Amino acid sequence: MTAAPHPSVVIIGGGIGGLFAANALIGQGLHVSVYEQASMLGEIGAGVFLTPNAVRHLERVGLGRAVEKWGARVGPASSYFRHDGTPIAPVQVSDASGWNAAFGMHRADLVELLAANLPAGVVRTGHRAVGFEQSSDRAAVAFANGTTAEADVVVAADGIHSELRPHVYPPSTPVFHGTVSYRGLVARERLPSWPMDRWQMWAGPSRHFLVFPVRHGTMVNYVGFVPADEEMKESWSAPGDPDVLRRAFEGWDDRVRDLLLQVDQTFRWALYDREPLPTWTRGRLTLLGDAAHPMLPHLGQGANQAIEDGMALAVILAQAAPSALPASLLAYERLRRERVADIQRGARQNGLRVDSTDADLSARDAQLAAHAEFRKRLYSYDVVPEARAAAAALSGEVSSVTGPSLT
Ligand SMILES: Cc1cc2nc3c(=O)[nH]c(=O)nc-3n(C[C@H](O)[C@H](O)[C@H](O)COP(=O)(O)OP(=O)(O)OC[C@H]3O[C@@H](n4cnc5c(N)ncnc54)[C@H](O)[C@@H]3O)c2cc1C
Repeated sequence: MTAAPHPSVVIIGGGIGGLFAANALIGQGLHVSVYEQASMLGEIGAGVFLTPNAVRHLERVGLGRAVEKWGARVGPASSYFRHDGTPIAPVQVSDASGWNAAFGMHRADLVELLAANLPAGVVRTGHRAVGFEQSSDRAAVAFANGTTAEADVVVAADGIHSELRPHVYPPSTPVFHGTVSYRGLVARERLPSWPMDRWQMWAGPSRHFLVFPVRHGTMVNYVGFVPADEEMKESWSAPGDPDVLRRAFEGWDDRVRDLLLQVDQTFRWALYDREPLPTWTRGRLTLLGDAAHPMLPHLGQGANQAIEDGMALAVILAQAAPSALPASLLAYERLRRERVADIQRGARQNGLRVDSTDADLSARDAQLAAHAEFRKRLYSYDVVPEARAAAAALSGEVSSVTGPSLT
């Protein structure tokens, strides 16, 4: 049997989701172009926490060493505390087999290493998608600069405000969760005794504060979550007032106070998500990452799930016959949608749990301790075998799936 020609794929959005998907699809032999609205790729100065369920895919696209180099691996000293510093429980950072692949990363470093791993010319900046149309055998995206791009498949990885999502499902309103987060980075030399081998969170009534290292331990990333009654634009980078942040955590553990004393600049970010979508796909167009499933950050899974999406899509499309592309996109959606919806809902629940306002916090603390089992399962999941099975089921060749090695 001769192999079917690999389809061409246009990805809209050069964020973590779009760039990882490009790496995974190219690794599977597909023809890929990424179109990003910004004039250059980049990210704001903040951290992102990578967990084993995504790091295994970064390794598969050849980025394991880069993640080791630029990330900051955190280990078993990671811990939850009460707001006053009383230890609650260790934080699970390895999967069920004990594999420890949890890394704090600077977001800009992650974007840069994903982009640097792509062949020249794959990413085209300065292209803001403004329109989409498709026929039975082609899909096309129109850009604000007057150009268009055609492909067999279009992947909208254009974030929570996705321009292309309404071509899949009618527009919905993002849900505000009454919380604002303050986040930023502090140089290690300003906190010389800060332990750089751990992820730490202080959980107080109605708010919490978390810290992990990034950029091979040269910077400390912090995020403080506080209640807010005013909605604000879903901007990730509105400037915040460091004094307001300090006041929000006044009287907390000395370690939190000492870190906050070193904060000169902070960014405010209001917490929004969306209800899980009933579908991600229409014909030759599918959604990926925050475009498909914007979630609260309380399980630290938005980027990690976007990476799982990209790997699943690549494995399935690599096996797809030209006539089966829409069916293959539906297979990708079937594989991903419920898992991610569970995580979207779980992130809401975990936020409520951590920010509990109960007078007696012992039940909350017990749940945080028990959370390790959930994390082990989350981190042990490998989407590749399931994607292969889904692809094989589509082609009716369950027993003879081949493709580039993904050990
Ligand atoms: C404070 C904070 C902390 C977080 N921490 C974590 C964490 O620890 N772990 C984790 O897993 N996740 C975390 N997340 C979530 C994670 O960052 C997101 O889920 C992830 O970045 C989503 O990636 P994406 O590529 O889908 O979307 P985005 O990062 O939003 O990228 C979308 C891209 O599309 C481009 N774009 C938009 N519209 C268009 C258009 N019309 N045409 C062309 N291009 C367009 C944008 O410019 C952007 O580059 C955090 C998020 C925040 C805000």
